[in-house]
Amino acid sequence: MKILSSLLLMLILFSCNAQARESDLTEILYTTYEDHKENSLEKRRIKYADLQPLIEQYASNPKFQVNKVGESIEGRDLNLISIGNGSIDVFLWSQMHGNEPTATQAIFDILNFLDSKFNVQEKREIFGKLRIHFLPMLNPDGAEVFQRRNTLGIDINRDALRLQSPEGRALKRVRDSLEADFGFNLHDQSIYYNAELTPKPATISYLAPAYNYEKDINDVRGNAIKVIGFMNDIIQKYAPGQVGRYNDDFEPRAFGDNIQKWGTSTILIESGGFADDIEKQEIRKLNYVSILSAIYTIARGSYNSISLDTYWAIPENDRKLFDLKLEEVGYNLLGKDYILDLGIHLQEVDDEIHSDFWYKARISDQGDLSTYYGYKTLNAKGYMVREGKVYDQVLESLEDLNDASALNLLDEGYVYVRVKNLPKDQVFSPYPVHVISENYKLPELKLAVGQNPTFFLEYDGELKYVVMNGFLIDLETGPGSVRMNGLLLR
Ligand SMILES: [Zn+2]
Repeated sequence: MKILSSLLLMLILFSCNAQARESDLTEILYTTYEDHKENSLEKRRIKYADLQPLIEQYASNPKFQVNKVGESIEGRDLNLISIGNGSIDVFLWSQMHGNEPTATQAIFDILNFLDSKFNVQEKREIFGKLRIHFLPMLNPDGAEVFQRRNTLGIDINRDALRLQSPEGRALKRVRDSLEADFGFNLHDQSIYYNAELTPKPATISYLAPAYNYEKDINDVRGNAIKVIGFMNDIIQKYAPGQVGRYNDDFEPRAFGDNIQKWGTSTILIESGGFADDIEKQEIRKLNYVSILSAIYTIARGSYNSISLDTYWAIPENDRKLFDLKLEEVGYNLLGKDYILDLGIHLQEVDDEIHSDFWYKARISDQGDLSTYYGYKTLNAKGYMVREGKVYDQVLESLEDLNDASALNLLDEGYVYVRVKNLPKDQVFSPYPVHVISENYKLPELKLAVGQNPTFFLEYDGELKYVVMNGFLIDLETGPGSVRMNGLLLR
């Protein structure tokens, strides 16, 4: 009896477990992500050479087939990695824009998952129904120098008709040879996109591209719309309100629009921004979870029951975000006080080998910015903009500075430090103050679009905040662990 009841209990547990697995693969993918993450690709500035050892691994793994399908202009191989035995072909390509690497990273996470020994049952379904093909980093030459365009200087995504780029030709050749049923066109978008009329970043934006100017919806486009509806629900769970829908005006030169036209249900995914996620690793995880879940729903055909309305209910993409928004700050110009909002963007400047970057901030807009939002926002009502001072001693070298001494200088109202012997190859200040050469003539502070935002905020005659190269530092609590740098002005 005891044996029988424990057997029964095991059976119940097992079937519950199986059901849970089936209905909530998504949750499992989310919670076990770290087990599958490809840890060798942790920064956005990844290169072709970083992918090679991974692709070689799959080439010698009997579960996968790896085929060279073309070469970039500079002669880097374009590889297609395929798995599965089903009759439905799913084709995913990433990084046709060289500086859009998030989905490339996610593809290698997905491959790790597909190769793993977990979730056998779901994988049996997936591989039984689908054959999945990955073409990661379609523009390796662009990735090498972290730029959008290829070496010919063209946007591959406007080359679907003229086909001058070998990368574009490879993409079309693969699409045509597979006659793929589903296509995932994987990109990154500006982190300054938001879900329309909200301060939430468009962490993921979707588009089921139109295949004609009339923007008709046939079965091919309709299926893409349904799968997007499914993925939207997933992202809403983990990043509520952070999804945007791209404008679907027909672009006759673009690959997404044409691939839809050629009969492949095409889903464009744009990875945008997420607060405090500089290297976009949280967004990469959301790509992993939502794309794998989409693959599963395609295998099961369950996307079919999703209403087209889900897609149209996603708010449109807008572009209304700043890194820092200061509201209603007081500013004295020629003896009179004015109230301004300031919208500040942090621009990334690459190092020489495009493997890392430093920040150079600019004021992007000023005036009434009440229809805009910030990743960080300070209501500065009652605060006055005050010019930062130059420290009165000249330092011998950069080694005479450190983070702590720089913060002390800020506390005393200094934000510029003169340094005598500046190393030739140093192009920015690694500390939260600006470093200037011995004879550098500092222009007077003037708030204007294009200017570097550096000033103090004074309240009741006391300095409360400093904006240093676009970074807002509370002088009471310090900067915290935010990555920041100052400028170096010679
Ligand atoms: Zn793109």
